[in-house]
Amino acid sequence: MISCATPTYDIIIKNGKVFDGSGSAFFISNIYIRDGKIAYVGNQPKAVAPQIIDATGLVIAPGFIDMHTHSERKSLDFSPVENYLQQGVTTMVGGNCGSSPFPIGDFFAKTDSTGIGPNLALLVGHNTIRRKVMGTENRLATETEIKEMQSLVHSAMEDGAFGMSTGLKYIPGAYSNLDEVVALASVVSKNDGFYATHMREEGIGLLESVEEAINIGRQSNLPVQISHHKAVGKSMWGQSIKTLEMVDNARKKGLEITLDQYPYTATSTTLKVVFPAWSLAGGHEKLKERLDDPKQRQKIKDGIVWNIVYDRGGGDPASIVVASYPTEPSLNGLNLAEITQSKGFKPTAENAAEVLMDMVYAGNGSGIYHCLNEDDVRRIMAHPQVMHASDGSTIQFNHALPHPRNYGTFPRVLGKYVRDLNVISLEEAIRKMTSFPASILGLSNRGKIKNDFWADLVVFNPKTIMDMATWDKPHQYPSGISWVIVNGKVAIDHGEWTNILSGKVLKRHE
Ligand SMILES: [Zn+2]
Repeated sequence: MISCATPTYDIIIKNGKVFDGSGSAFFISNIYIRDGKIAYVGNQPKAVAPQIIDATGLVIAPGFIDMHTHSERKSLDFSPVENYLQQGVTTMVGGNCGSSPFPIGDFFAKTDSTGIGPNLALLVGHNTIRRKVMGTENRLATETEIKEMQSLVHSAMEDGAFGMSTGLKYIPGAYSNLDEVVALASVVSKNDGFYATHMREEGIGLLESVEEAINIGRQSNLPVQISHHKAVGKSMWGQSIKTLEMVDNARKKGLEITLDQYPYTATSTTLKVVFPAWSLAGGHEKLKERLDDPKQRQKIKDGIVWNIVYDRGGGDPASIVVASYPTEPSLNGLNLAEITQSKGFKPTAENAAEVLMDMVYAGNGSGIYHCLNEDDVRRIMAHPQVMHASDGSTIQFNHALPHPRNYGTFPRVLGKYVRDLNVISLEEAIRKMTSFPASILGLSNRGKIKNDFWADLVVFNPKTIMDMATWDKPHQYPSGISWVIVNGKVAIDHGEWTNILSGKVLKRHE
């Protein structure tokens, strides 16, 4: 019989190794959850709850916060966002790399009515804003246009955006200059947000791009987050030594600058990323006109060959793999050397560029680019100001061949890099997945295991946690993660989604 003095809860997680997210060593404890919140951490022998989770031998950590996703893109269609829930992600930050929904408030309202698995926070995208005001024109903004863009950024911040992202490698952000970004970032700064950047270059030009990010932070007086940090292309391998020094120096001079990273040696983005930026102005039809003109086609080809040899192509067309090509899905999973050979040509960079131009002419797609170095990956990962993040999206299960980071980022860090390779400690990795991103977002009641914090939690086995998604078979959930709790509701139970959508839209200052 339950007496009035018996404390009752919704869920009790018993006897786990509690890593509270702060980076401290673990302690063995129970966690008591009530009304969505962590009600008590400790031991109450008489407490009861309808659901008891036995976490003996398992880690209890705050739910992972993924600072860098594009998960908003299909989250309304695949609302459990199971590829994130299964990784232990309880909060996703979307709207990265310059691209976001707009108006953000409308998107939040739709998300609220659909329901969503993990919590969702958004940044407003510079490319989205610029496109609204200027289309994809290849020129600098006028003063009037800057004012118009500033007011759109302001309205997104009012709607609850946590900051602004840029994608200066992409169209139309590539046509903007530092002054434009500073003008918009200053609006974000006044609203107490931060600036996340997919920099102009991550290969040759990387150091100048880090310098630009630092200058934008200084001139707009706001925190900077360098997105998916890496050194692209063989000639740039090892340059992360310098970029991390630049970050350390900027921090010493008072700039709040942090970074995120995914734990893989390949990138993934549009097939157009290897096209020269000027060739993409005005949209796809304009690109086709340029490809039809022999002189311009040659210039575009030269740019692509350069990118294959020195930058994203990793020196070899075989390093570029088609992830998703809706025009001809049978090409998914093939690399550009294979596709070039299948057309009857030798797989040189020149021939591969021709084949790629023909492909993109018929329709765009996305690729995976094997162009990074493992030493850089480990060096960046170990830096205390780098957090783990996926750069992934909401994935339709078994559709196309997406980058495995969409399924494996967090378990890969905890399995391969923490347990097997000792690149960082378990408590440090958990800090980088929880309280660290929460502090950048200004979330005062998530990211730690503490009384009155939201009960966003993950329970996993540190001995077996492992990513299972591979380049050839990406659609595989990780192993070793048994329970994921979002806002006090069990979303993953014994590794299975429970049909519960308990994620919330998160707004700045709420
Ligand atoms: Zn990006």
